[in-house]
Amino acid sequence: MILRPNLSTPQTTSRSVAPKAAPSAEPTQTGPQDSASLGEYKPGELLLRTRPGFSLASNNNSVVDSLGAQVLGSFDTPGGIHKSETGEFLHLKLPAGVSVEQAMAKLADDPRVEFSAPNTIYKLDEFQMNQNPAPVDDPDMGKLWGLNNEGQTGGKADADIDAPEAWQIHAGRTQSQGGPIIAVIDTGVDYNHPDLQANMWVNPGEIPGDGIDNDGNGVIDDVHGYNAFSDNGDPMDGQGHGTHCAGTIGAVGNNGVGVVGVNQNANIMAVKIFNDEGSTDAAAIVRGIQYATKMGARITSNSWGGPLPNSAIREAFEQSPSALHLVAAGNSGYNNDWLPSFPANYGLDNIVAVAATDHNDELASFSQYGKKNVDLGAPGVDILSTVPGGKYATYSGTSMATPHVSGAATLIASQNPDITNEELRARLEQGTDKVAALDGKTASGGRLNVHKALTMELG
Ligand code: CA
Ligand code: CA
Ligand code: CA
Ligand code: CA
Repeated sequence: MILRPNLSTPQTTSRSVAPKAAPSAEPTQTGPQDSASLGEYKPGELLLRTRPGFSLASNNNSVVDSLGAQVLGSFDTPGGIHKSETGEFLHLKLPAGVSVEQAMAKLADDPRVEFSAPNTIYKLDEFQMNQNPAPVDDPDMGKLWGLNNEGQTGGKADADIDAPEAWQIHAGRTQSQGGPIIAVIDTGVDYNHPDLQANMWVNPGEIPGDGIDNDGNGVIDDVHGYNAFSDNGDPMDGQGHGTHCAGTIGAVGNNGVGVVGVNQNANIMAVKIFNDEGSTDAAAIVRGIQYATKMGARITSNSWGGPLPNSAIREAFEQSPSALHLVAAGNSGYNNDWLPSFPANYGLDNIVAVAATDHNDELASFSQYGKKNVDLGAPGVDILSTVPGGKYATYSGTSMATPHVSGAATLIASQNPDITNEELRARLEQGTDKVAALDGKTASGGRLNVHKALTMELG
């Protein structure tokens, strides 16, 4: 799904707002420019990071006091023991009569402030979602052209990621087998789905249903993950998108039902950042990324994004160096090197952006691309996977391409528990099949090949 800024004036399609400038005029990548175009945001709310040494409690002339603001919540600030060492990362309520623009302008040159950002509102874009929503009653491995393409859908044989070949080497590990955690940061996951249940992460420190935060991580009864939108322990998916992504990553293999994920055995953590109507805000996204980081996710899968940057979301990814974050390139068909899309364009080493290909190894007509800002392609057209209620459906989008790569990254990390992010990234990018449609349109020029990525000698 694509996070659309919920602009008060209707936005024309992204394709039509794409700059017509020649490549030489393309903007150089810079940090997020929150003040350039704020889009829609929660009125009177501000996300703010202080610089080290400037905390809320340390003095009576704090940033919060000088704004006359009230603290709604505090995000984690990894990196130091004391707030005075790290600064603070806060969710603030501004006093009546002070606008977000006024507060940001006032703080722009304040030496105590690392950044301030609006609490941006994001909405799902239904484009390319539910393209063929009719549930399939008799799904099976043979329909998953992305994993193994023998021309069964009329496409080109072997325009696929070579999953069966990879499974000859390694087929993933569940939590009890010590498998790495893959966090699906999305609309939640139907953790009771018969084709997902056995591959769901279970919080080892939490006793279900006792109303107590047994592991002291700040969330009560967070058994299979976290609902960051509502800030509770139930990440059930009432929308469908997150469950579909989870199935591509790790639907249970060899269980006699349904489909199979890139990891037949997996350890899937559900992190729900959208409500079931497909809305969210920057604060919920930050909470979700921080939960996944804190609870040890090795890989995160992010099938969302859009043209509005937000400094607090970028900060959450940057403060998560222990994980590799796979993100969708976007579904508006434009070049991300010309017109940025986030999180793909945050310019962080721990973010890998994914374009969508079809069963002929062509770039999907909707897929965004970019030689600088999009790393590789993966199958993303007519992808069959799990949806809530024990069902299956076929969706299209870079949202569907991303979990193929997230699954591959998880499989590689499962086979190589000590692998660095740098090597993992290199394997994903170098272990591709070069295809003409991605030449000059992605950094690697290739479409994911999980067998090659798993087995190649790195150059
Ligand atoms: Ca193949
Ligand atoms: Ca807990
Ligand atoms: Ca509990
Ligand atoms: Ca299955």
